[in-house]
Amino acid sequence: MAIEQMEIAKWIKKYPLLNKIIDLVPVVWFNPNLKSMKEIASLPITKQDMEDAAELWKRFAPFLAMEFPETRVTNGMIESPLRKIANMKNELNSKYSAMLVGELYLKCDNELPLAGSIKARGGVYEVLHYAEKLAIEAGLLKKEDNYTSFSSRKFKEFFSQYSIGVGSTGNLGLSIGIIGAKLGFQVSVYMSSDAKQWKKDLLREKGATVIEFTGDFGEAILAGRQQTKKNPNGYFVDDEDSKHLFLGYSVAAIRLQKQLEEEKIIVDAEHPLFVYQPCGVGGSPGGVAFGLKQIFGDNVHCFFVEPTHSPAVLIGLLTGEKEKVCVQDFGIDNRTEGDGLAVGRPSCFASSVSDKLISGVYTIEDNELFELLATLADSEGLYVEPSATAGLIGPGKIIASNYAEQNNLDPKKITHIVWATGGALVPKEEMDRFYELGKSLIKDLGTIV
Ligand SMILES: *Cc1c(COP(=O)(O)O)cnc(C)c1O
Repeated sequence: MAIEQMEIAKWIKKYPLLNKIIDLVPVVWFNPNLKSMKEIASLPITKQDMEDAAELWKRFAPFLAMEFPETRVTNGMIESPLRKIANMKNELNSKYSAMLVGELYLKCDNELPLAGSIKARGGVYEVLHYAEKLAIEAGLLKKEDNYTSFSSRKFKEFFSQYSIGVGSTGNLGLSIGIIGAKLGFQVSVYMSSDAKQWKKDLLREKGATVIEFTGDFGEAILAGRQQTKKNPNGYFVDDEDSKHLFLGYSVAAIRLQKQLEEEKIIVDAEHPLFVYQPCGVGGSPGGVAFGLKQIFGDNVHCFFVEPTHSPAVLIGLLTGEKEKVCVQDFGIDNRTEGDGLAVGRPSCFASSVSDKLISGVYTIEDNELFELLATLADSEGLYVEPSATAGLIGPGKIIASNYAEQNNLDPKKITHIVWATGGALVPKEEMDRFYELGKSLIKDLGTIV
């Protein structure tokens, strides 16, 4: 399905920003298709779908609390804290000349139980949704029942007849493997060559089968999809086109609303919320953005960030071609250290929704991910994985543009939320290596931007 060179040349002429994107220069793009919530007639999913998803999480909470002791403090709810990062804000202002005046928070999905990344929302949700459906269809369960029965031998034996497949660079595979194996499913994770060894080891330890590929993420997904679907009892979690992953992520918005209330953070037309999210296929940031838009409407402004080497969603939205184009069509190599972000082609489902809801996308260089990682660790004592730092330069980038002005917003009244998407499961030696790399880059390059 290679795109013809003539077609590419036409797009470049029409969208000159593509020149910089192809040259791997960090860019900021504002979405001309952004609509106010009033203007959006319909989306493929509704607020009700998100609320239904939240209900499913509640039904499974007793099971999760029983099987995953780390979720007992939250009564089986898989949730992460929202932390104010005032020291990091000072660092961004002094080192990056960010000129940030509003408040800065970190949504710490790096601390999410089970999978240590935002995939604990989407991936776990999709598997729970599938398990519930199977159990109900088999007459084993009613929605009113106590879901601790999912821990029973009977249920595990029942699910062992079914297999789940997923293609992953790592984190999605971890979440599906951990919850899938716990329920008794046979789980196969098709991993790309850039997936980390420790993730493969951990998955095998949890009882999943890991199938390794020499190619990239797109190829792992393709192979996984084909293999899984050969089995009539096989279910494929399709990161390139999944409504269920998307809905699982969206529930984060309902939870965040509550946390904002607890922190007494007002969100209204005068006090908008700006949210910055690392983006791979666009499912997790898209799902969260969808949820936030349902709750806060036009008072929330969502920005995605991608590595300069993997601007899949940016190119898909900018050209309007969405999942029909990949970064390789434009000669971009899709090589990045940001786990979960090394994605060449955007999600079909997510792109169709994000297209109208997000304010923009910016790109970041890999070196900066490591520098931000070290700066966040030094200033706040928080350790996140490289991809999870990408949102941190967002507030400075957007404030430096005329976006706030154009939308008649007072920068002092903006609350910035940077989504930290992963980190808790990264082994200490690996994290130390990331940190040291970040420190050495800061020393070599001095301040950035
Ligand atoms: C998967 C992932 C993302 C991006 O999510 P998508 O749904 O692929 O857009 C961001 N950060 C981390 C750490 C991830 O694992």
